[in-house]
Amino acid sequence: MTRATLAEFQPLPSLLEIEPEKLARILIITCADPRTIPENMFNLQTGEAVVFRVPGGNAQFLLEHVLSLDSLLHFKECIIVQHTDCGATHFRDAKVKEGLRERAPDLKQQIDGLSFGEITGSLDENVRKSIDFLRASALVPEELKANTRGFVFDIKTGHLNEVKV
Ligand SMILES: [Zn+2]
Repeated sequence: MTRATLAEFQPLPSLLEIEPEKLARILIITCADPRTIPENMFNLQTGEAVVFRVPGGNAQFLLEHVLSLDSLLHFKECIIVQHTDCGATHFRDAKVKEGLRERAPDLKQQIDGLSFGEITGSLDENVRKSIDFLRASALVPEELKANTRGFVFDIKTGHLNEVKV
């Protein structure tokens, strides 16, 4: 924070100070792309939603994080957003691994086991994979599974198109 913004800073409530019904119950899983900012997309205010961002916006990389925060916040709703022209549609896992093997030939076995979330099919299909992943996990609460929806954000029009499941 700059000195000016720090001067205007309002103290944030601790978790124990927030009334239980005002805790963030919305979980948003989306891409790390700097063009697609979920706080802007959904006009979010401080404290309104938990946002996880990973390249591609694949829920498969986030299970532990979803579960740890759910144990505190008891999420009511999960929104998965992926977007057009995503970097994950441009890189290929095999190509990333190729570079890593050159950098660290001794770690071939470890590198082979890595997954970077490349998107090779349609975006709708990829969003469905994330939804299916959460719904298939016996660790995710049933209520959250039932209230999980997916969207594709169009970077040219700003539209959020819901993915049919
Ligand atoms: Zn992306």
